Amino acid sequence: DSKRRRRNGWQAFSPELASRQQQRLQAETQLRRALDNGEFHLVYQPQVDLRSGRILYAEALVRWHNPQLGEMRPDRFIDLAETTGDIIRIGNWVLQEACAQMRRWREQDLPIHRIAVNVSYRQFTGDNLGESVRRALADAGLPGHALELELTERVLVDDTPDTLEVFDQLRLLGVQLSIDDFGEGYSALNYLRRLPIHALKLSQSFLKGVPGKPSDVAICQAVAGIAQSLGLGMVAEGVESEAQRDFLLRLGVNVGQGFLFAPGLLPGEFAKRVAAQQDAA
Ligand code: C2E
Ligand code: MG
Ligand code: MG
Ligand code: MG
Repeated sequence: DSKRRRRNGWQAFSPELASRQQQRLQAETQLRRALDNGEFHLVYQPQVDLRSGRILYAEALVRWHNPQLGEMRPDRFIDLAETTGDIIRIGNWVLQEACAQMRRWREQDLPIHRIAVNVSYRQFTGDNLGESVRRALADAGLPGHALELELTERVLVDDTPDTLEVFDQLRLLGVQLSIDDFGEGYSALNYLRRLPIHALKLSQSFLKGVPGKPSDVAICQAVAGIAQSLGLGMVAEGVESEAQRDFLLRLGVNVGQGFLFAPGLLPGEFAKRVAAQQDAA
């Protein structure tokens, strides 16, 4: 409508927007140098056996600490990095670092069976992801099954001959593939029949309304049903309460992650917790 358009037209000249653009430009400049300046690190969120709370796997989550901009969560810079193309280099660094960390844990004899790494749309389509993954595994001396890639639904829906080739390479490497934030974006499910997917990660936005909101409960049940009937694994994320955990266990979902158990942890803290549960066993 014309009223809104006029308001937007006016906004284009507003000082707030100008300063927002300036902020974005500043972030862009800082982002370009961040990798060389060593400003990224990874934290690791435990994926646990929901019944016992025992840590089974880890998900690597990137953090950016910039002296000017402060500590930033990926929600604030991954989109930007996708636009600028920096995501390719950052994503490769994340892969290398996560695999190297997994290697160190294995050398310490910690029973962490797999590490999950988030992969963005542009990484999957714009670069030789298969080769980057092969190299990261080889450099760390890891078998493919020690690595899981979390893909977004967008990758699966927009598949092209190029992405199909990436899927083939990843299948040959033996890495696990899961779909992050499942159910959020695109409801096309036919790709589940075609692509070598191992697990669905239920979007935490649906778990938020559990157990109080009937429509969220229904969606969780439906996703669990899809996973079970297709023989896929299912991981719940954003588990914050015991009521949510119990609901998931009743649905037959056995693996989850969330603040009820732990947030993303520095590697030493993660190792300490895994070692403690070994001592207790
Ligand atoms: P995600 O992969 O779905 O990760 C889950 C996010 O939820 C993480 O936020 C995590 O810290 C947060 N979280 C975990 N447990 C709970 C909980 O119980 N309650 C709530 N409210 N939140 C919880 P984070 O670390 O800020 O990451 C946000 C998103 O950024 C990730 O969502 C992922 O899509 C993306 N991301 C993170 N690291 C990377 C990366 O290395 N590469 C790419 N391409 N994307 C990344
Ligand atoms: Mg994820
Ligand atoms: Mg997620
Ligand atoms: Mg997410």
